[in-house]
Formats: sequence, C-alpha cells, structure tokens
Amino acid sequence: TRQAGGNSIVRYQEAMRLNLQRRRVLETELARALEKGELHVVFQPLVDLKDRRLLGVEALMRWQNDALGDISPAEFISIAEESGLIVEFGTWIMKQAMKEAMAWSEPLRLAINVSPLQFTAPDFVDAIQDALSETGFSPHFLDLELTESLFVDDRLQLDTTIDALKQMGCSLALDDFGTGYSSLGYIPRFPFSKIKIDKSFIDQVCDEGPQAAIVSSVVSLAGIFKMKVVAEGIETEEQEEKLRALGCDIGQGYLFGKPIRADGIAQLLKTAA
Ligand code: C2E
Ligand code: CA
Ligand code: CA
Ligand code: CA
Repeated sequence: TRQAGGNSIVRYQEAMRLNLQRRRVLETELARALEKGELHVVFQPLVDLKDRRLLGVEALMRWQNDALGDISPAEFISIAEESGLIVEFGTWIMKQAMKEAMAWSEPLRLAINVSPLQFTAPDFVDAIQDALSETGFSPHFLDLELTESLFVDDRLQLDTTIDALKQMGCSLALDDFGTGYSSLGYIPRFPFSKIKIDKSFIDQVCDEGPQAAIVSSVVSLAGIFKMKVVAEGIETEEQEEKLRALGCDIGQGYLFGKPIRADGIAQLLKTAA
C-alpha cells in the first residue's frame, strides 16, 4: 500500500542519514587517530601448509577510539583511503611493525598491506628505505601485499618503483587475488613472489561448488610464474587438508592463529623453540 511504501522510504532515508552521520564522525576522529595514539598493529601467523611451521606474519592495523570503541578495518580503511590518510597510516604501520618485529628471538617474514595511493605516492620507496634503516629490519624479510586494483589502471607508472623495491631486496605479493574483476595480463609484467587467494574463495573450498577448481587453477597459474600460493582465512582442518592437497604452499587463518600483538608472537616463538 501507499502507506507502507511511504514508511519504508522514510526508514531508508533515516538509515542513510545515520550512515552519513557515522561516516562523518569516523572521518573526523580518524584524522586525529595517529597523533592520539589510537592505532596499533597486530600480527597474524603465516604457516607452511606442509608442517604448520611458522614462516612469517601479516601486519594488520587496528583502531581503538575512546568514544567509538574498536572500529573494524573493513570500515575505517576505506575511509582512510578516500581521505588520503592511508598514506600517513601506511608509513606509520610499516615502521611500527618492523620495530616490533625486531624484538622477536628469530627473524620472521613480515607482510605489510600497501594501498594503491600509498604505493604511488612519490616518496614511497624513500619511506620504506627510511623504515628499514631506522629499525634495522632486513628488506629480504619484507613482503609488500598489493591488490589488483593497483594494476587495473595501466596509465600508472609502476615500473620505477617496482624496480627500486626489487633492487632493495623486497618481495611483492598479490593480495585478495580473484576479487578484483581484472584480467590476468598484468601478472607476467610484475615480479610477484606470492599470490594470496582471498578468504571468499577458501570458505567453500570443501563444498561441491566451483571453489576447489578455482583454487586449483590459481595454483597452476602460480606454478607457471614460480609464485608461492597463500590461502587466507583457513578456519577448519578439513579446509587445511583440502588446500594442501590442491597444492597451496602457505596458510593463514584462525585455525593457525588470530591476529595478536607482538608479544603474543614472541611467546609463540618461545614455545616453538
Ligand atoms: P586482508 O589484507 O585480506 O587481510 C586478511 C583479513 O582476513 C584480516 O582482516 C584478517 O584478520 C582476516 N582473517 C584472516 N584469517 C581469518 C579467518 O580464519 N577467519 C576470518 N573470519 N577472518 C580472517 P582485518 O584485520 O579485519 O583486515 C581487513 C582488511 O583491511 C585487510 O584485508 C586489508 O585489506 C585491510 N587492512 C588491514 N590492515 C591494513 C593496513 O595496515 N594497511 C592497509 N592498506 N590495509 C589494511
Ligand atoms: Ca593482506
Ligand atoms: Ca587486502
Ligand atoms: Ca583478503
């Protein structure tokens, strides 16, 4: 009826207004998050799928605000990207993660997410160089996780930056593979050492559907270009076994460990030793 339709439009408009309002509050708060010390870094284990040995960690950003509580990266990272704050945040987390990793009893590979805006900023290579020399972290243990969206725009001049990074000894990983609706043409053009299959493909890998076949074709593709395959979001032993059988090399997921603070990783190393 007209009555009900009218009400649902009002409800929709009200929801939109609240959405915008929250967004505006988040934007304002996020702009001061770094100086207020509200950001921190957590680390999630990456394990060898052969024997579950700890190979490295992925650094993930967290934001805790007094008034708003914990805000998930799914919500604040996109705001940070749109406002440009991600460049500053990205530089901060890189240095912070390296500094904290240096306290561990043995070196672990460190994967860091780099958003396209940060990667294409003119001083990106300098910022990495700076973080490495200030912390003493080895570039040979660094994996920069880049998403497909960076490679969609072929007007971007990426080669100089990528050459400089390779020269320094850093590695590149292709993150969230398969979620970006892009062609595969860019893959041979760039020296990725790892390809990460997004959790959305892993969730149903044990079901009858096409997910296992998709994983299997990513493994073949990776083989052609000598890339290691990382499966993200593994939650069950059944998935672990399936992914191992399909030929994935590295696993990440709650089954092996949730993202934790640096001291938790130090503890893991101590118990494993
Ligand atoms: P991502 O790069 O794909 O990171 C993996 C995400 O999957 C993380 O979410 C991680 O906590 C989650 N995850 C891993 N294993 C499991 C699992 O077994 N089950 C479930 N349910 N989730 C799992 P998180 O930390 O919420 O981060 C979300 C996204 O935010 C990241 O996705 C990444 O795109 C972005 N992000 C996080 N930190 C940073 C950062 O420092 N810089 C940039 N540019 N982006 C970041
Ligand atoms: Ca990632
Ligand atoms: Ca990602
Ligand atoms: Ca992902």
